[in-house]
Amino acid sequence: MKKIAFITLGCKLNYAETSTYEREFIRNGLQPVPWNRGADIFLVNTCTVTEHSDKKCRNIIRKLHRLRPDAEIVVTGCYAQLRKEEIRKIEGVTYVFGAEEKSMVVQTVMDHINGLEPSATGCSSFFPAYSSGERTRSFLKVQDGCDYFCAYCTVPYARGASRNIPIADIVRQAWEISAAGIKEIVLTGVNTGDFGKSTGERFIDLLKALDKVGGIERYRISSIEPNLLTEETVDWIASGTKFLPHFHIPLQSGSDTVLREMGRRYDTAAFEAKIRYIREKMEKPGSLKVFFGIDVIAGFPGETDGLFRETYDFLKDRIRPAFIHVFPYSRRAGTRAAARKDQVKDAVKTERVQMLEKLSDMLHEDFIKSHKGMKAHVLFESTVKDGMISGYTENYIRVERPAESGLEGKITEIEL
Ligand code: SF4
Repeated sequence: MKKIAFITLGCKLNYAETSTYEREFIRNGLQPVPWNRGADIFLVNTCTVTEHSDKKCRNIIRKLHRLRPDAEIVVTGCYAQLRKEEIRKIEGVTYVFGAEEKSMVVQTVMDHINGLEPSATGCSSFFPAYSSGERTRSFLKVQDGCDYFCAYCTVPYARGASRNIPIADIVRQAWEISAAGIKEIVLTGVNTGDFGKSTGERFIDLLKALDKVGGIERYRISSIEPNLLTEETVDWIASGTKFLPHFHIPLQSGSDTVLREMGRRYDTAAFEAKIRYIREKMEKPGSLKVFFGIDVIAGFPGETDGLFRETYDFLKDRIRPAFIHVFPYSRRAGTRAAARKDQVKDAVKTERVQMLEKLSDMLHEDFIKSHKGMKAHVLFESTVKDGMISGYTENYIRVERPAESGLEGKITEIEL
């Protein structure tokens, strides 16, 4: 039996896709093994979000080839889409599959193993996927691609135009996830809220259909653009659904000048109004607060100290999220921002990242402390370390408690 190892870089969408490849290879008789346990084939699902990601992908491919010079290396994902020829030249690489060839990966590799001519035909613009590596939570891909072309981002080039499969197909996958005993689904996409572009359906109708899937008790939306999280959707979520008070929303900058130059589709006033609206609808006296995880880029070209200060103050005084995901700006070839002359020095970027990370720690601590003594429901996960079991509340507070049998995979009420 041939052994295959999977290496995934980047976002949850990649994890969902790798997990799907893994299920399909197992169905075809291959045995999955960890990367350092004698694999005959390596499948590397790559990322290209920053320069660092590209470098990491190249290094991993070279390392795998040194480790097992006879193994086949199959490369797919965003970096594979943007730098196909560059990757093909790396020693040990057998196949490189771009964005529209993902549905051909398994058949092509199996034909190769069986000494057959490649029989997979036809590119498909959407590769349906969900993760099944965790026993309690699954990342379900509901949308792919993006039409926004923000000034700093290569994702629309790497993943193509915004598209999706019909609601009925996604619901069918949710039932499969439910049948595996998984209780929580995280909806994942590149621009998740843009769902419906290729089928004419609406995001809110997807949520309503998923809410009816038996066995799934909780849903989270992994990341959604603020302009696409409509009041209608918020009202419906707040009306008592399986969707949790947890939102991951990209802000990227708290300066209107920088937002305009980034090509984002909102300003700080609209962003703040959206956060306030969600809080008003979902936070009742004595209820858990909404967890907001906010993405911010530090050091976008032209971001002066003053403009950065606007971002810092906006987050500290106006938004006060539970967490800030901070990214230093990365200059990506082919984007509008990369051509700008007013790039910010790396040392300044690092300093701004550190300031925002410290702010995030402080806000996170305040968020946690404000819940002391409150009742919450935790879905305990299967990982038990040092006699402890951990899980997350509805609003994404990580909880640890001494492990007891019967807690795994169950939603349990606790006092925080
Ligand atoms: S919305 Fe902007 S940042 Fe997000 S994937 Fe699309 S282009 Fe990139």
